[in-house]
Amino acid sequence: MNAMALLHGRVALSVVIPVYNESGNIQPLSERVCDALAHFPGTLEILFIDDGSTDATLAELSDAQRRDPRVRILHFTRNRGQTAAMAAGFRYSRGEAVVTLDGDLQNDPADIPKLLEKLKDWDVVCGVRIRRQDSWWKRISSRIANGVRNWATCDDIIDTGCTLKAFRGECVRNLELYQGMHRFLPTLLKMRGYRVIQVPVSHHPRLHGKTKYGTWRRLVKGLADLYVVRWMKANWIDPHPSLEIHESAEVRLKATGEK
Ligand code: UDP
Ligand code: MG
Repeated sequence: MNAMALLHGRVALSVVIPVYNESGNIQPLSERVCDALAHFPGTLEILFIDDGSTDATLAELSDAQRRDPRVRILHFTRNRGQTAAMAAGFRYSRGEAVVTLDGDLQNDPADIPKLLEKLKDWDVVCGVRIRRQDSWWKRISSRIANGVRNWATCDDIIDTGCTLKAFRGECVRNLELYQGMHRFLPTLLKMRGYRVIQVPVSHHPRLHGKTKYGTWRRLVKGLADLYVVRWMKANWIDPHPSLEIHESAEVRLKATGEK
């Protein structure tokens, strides 16, 4: 079966993209997403979440929507952070599959078909940026953060900061998230019993705009959040435990409404 055929028929794909002051990136990004999915046989939506941008991002998104009605826009009137933007994207997405990527063209939409191919056998597919095009300082600090995160949460996620990921829609649609938790999505989903795989993806330098994360915001806040996730994992209550219900036949009949 062709990679796209998986999603054919009643199912659809939502491409979820959080954007905060990404003027200059919107048009080339929406074109590249459309090109990458030109042969996609099912219904496709490209869901941009404008996270309270103060530049021309919203106007550029409206232009993109005029060019292609498959573009949907969620607009926060103030900046609420990447996790909040992604959570809104998940909630309002309609696709059977959901793909997330950054809005600055650092992720390559051409990798999306490869992720969808893997989604045939897995619930979550996480990109791992090969030859990452960021400063040496960012690469080193990110490697340390991933190491500490995996150590503390007993996990093996190589590059959780890579936004390029694919999910079966049901995994993320009703997920309750808190600020900063987008960095822990694979761990949070594994806790819920979903099967996660990691695949190499390409990475490009940022051409327009600048990063929204200094070292403080990425590293220190990220590490502080880590303890919360560690605690959540340690105290997680499995919603589907092996459980027997012992009740009298009379009560059971009343509960099901049978005569
Ligand atoms: N972003 C967002 N809200 C924020 C910060 C970032 O929606 O408060 C978006 C941003 O526009 C980009 C993605 O999240 O599409 C990743 O941000 P960035 O490229 O700055 O992160 P980096 O690649 O430098 O780690
Ligand atoms: Mg970036």
